[in-house]
Amino acid sequence: MTDTLFLADFRRACTSNSCPFCALLTETARRYFSSLLNGFTLAPDIHQRLARSRGFCRAHAWLLKEVEQGERGDGNGTATLYSTVLQGIRGELDACLAEPTSGAATKTHWWSASPAPFGKRLRERLRPEGICLMCEHQKETEEFALEQLIEALDEAGSSGELALLYDASAGACQPHFLRLLERASTDSTARWLAHVQRQHLAALEAQLDAYRNRDYQKTQSEAEADCWIRALAQTAGLPHAFGEVVE
Ligand SMILES: [Zn+2]
Ligand SMILES: [Zn+2]
Repeated sequence: MTDTLFLADFRRACTSNSCPFCALLTETARRYFSSLLNGFTLAPDIHQRLARSRGFCRAHAWLLKEVEQGERGDGNGTATLYSTVLQGIRGELDACLAEPTSGAATKTHWWSASPAPFGKRLRERLRPEGICLMCEHQKETEEFALEQLIEALDEAGSSGELALLYDASAGACQPHFLRLLERASTDSTARWLAHVQRQHLAALEAQLDAYRNRDYQKTQSEAEADCWIRALAQTAGLPHAFGEVVE
């Protein structure tokens, strides 16, 4: 049984000109950040969580900046949240620097396999505890969305509402296509997904061909003009739909 709220979100995501899962996850992240900035920048549990993960991952930190600048423009919410993040990092530096030095200095070379003991201890202390809060949130949303489509395909086949929406969308990016295949429990579902994917790829390939051989005198539709950007999105996914693991 498809969740009603999810259906409305998925329908909207399927009208975007990119992978519906990427569109859904990007929208989810924007909404989450908007709500965070508008009501939770002083919440102690959020501060603790962000301090442990050393802030958001790179992809989501830059999305937070976009939302902050797009909605408020003053940066106060991010300044409040990141004061705690920076305090935490500085605290670890202070604690490590206050430890007594251990014995004689050991000379290490840049090509040495093991880093100096002080650097090693400091790296351990600075390592993020747990994944980025937004990555965690998106992971849950993604699992739910993928499961909803697979369930709908198993129950109603390719004529169900979700299947029709998905079929009419721009199609899944390669990472989300692979995740769908991981979850498809019957060959008929997997084959239908592959068939839809093939159609989307063939259409995009044709657009790329037309773009490369275009007549520069004629104006092109917006859809044709950005096909090379959609080719990047098709293979890699949208930039804010996935987090990044920082070593
Ligand atoms: Zn995607
Ligand atoms: Zn993240």
